[in-house]
Amino acid sequence: KSGAKMYTKERSRVTFADVAGLEEAKQELMEIVEFLRNPKRFMRLGAKAPRGVLLVGPPGTGKTLMARAVAGEAGVPFFTISASQFIEMFVGVGASRVRDLFGNAKKNAPSIIFIDELDAVGRSRGTGLGGGNDEREQTLNQLLSEMDGFEAHDEVIVMSATNRPDVLDPALLRPGRFDRQVVVERPDWRARGEILKVHTRKVPLADDVDLQLLARSTPGMCGADLENLVNEAALIAAREDAQQVCMAHFERAKDRVLMGTERKLVMSQ
Ligand code: ATP
Repeated sequence: KSGAKMYTKERSRVTFADVAGLEEAKQELMEIVEFLRNPKRFMRLGAKAPRGVLLVGPPGTGKTLMARAVAGEAGVPFFTISASQFIEMFVGVGASRVRDLFGNAKKNAPSIIFIDELDAVGRSRGTGLGGGNDEREQTLNQLLSEMDGFEAHDEVIVMSATNRPDVLDPALLRPGRFDRQVVVERPDWRARGEILKVHTRKVPLADDVDLQLLARSTPGMCGADLENLVNEAALIAAREDAQQVCMAHFERAKDRVLMGTERKLVMSQ
């Protein structure tokens, strides 16, 4: 990876319509969207700006997608970095990257900073895990001090995601830091149906395709798996030179995706 690229700044075109299910999470995040759309309205009334939001949930359930959707709905720039990128480089670089990232987000406010895999940098300090990684602790300290250093008028929301909230340093969760948690749960069959609908929007489906049936027969699959399922089905259909994707293609794709997820499980053991 190139060390020059510390983080990316993007204009998100993702909206809540692209995030299927997760209605409760969207509702909770609507407040953040409204703040970012019109921060002055909040400030005028002396309301304290929201600051940090932690999205908590298993891998592939749409946390990153959700953060992009908040930026898209609000129409503000989205600065993203994965926490493991913070610390992979040279000693001392992690902390300066954090400083740089926050400075840039403030310059472009209102804006959103999104830190993926917060646990990579945010594990409890002094636990000896990672062999007392000074670089990581310095980075974490810098992150905490940046969050404390916001002025009331700074119109920057810091979002982050983790699937291990239990290992986070409690200092991260204090008021003024990531004091709001939004749960992004694994989809039930209804939500899986919605996710399949979103991802088949541009796929020509044969009449025999029953997305509800597919949703019911894919327990345990997350959004990323379902996106993969649709893509595999389209690939199989394309290889047959079919005009449309039919149920048989989905059935074969399902076997493949399930094999893939099982392999991942075995490998992670
Ligand atoms: P990780 O913890 O692995 O980073 P994540 O929770 O951030 O995972 P995303 O990266 O947002 O998951 O999801 C991967 C892809 O899966 C998304 O880009 C999207 O295409 C699809 N996806 C996941 N969840 C949903 C959802 N609820 N609705 C629509 N698509 C989804």
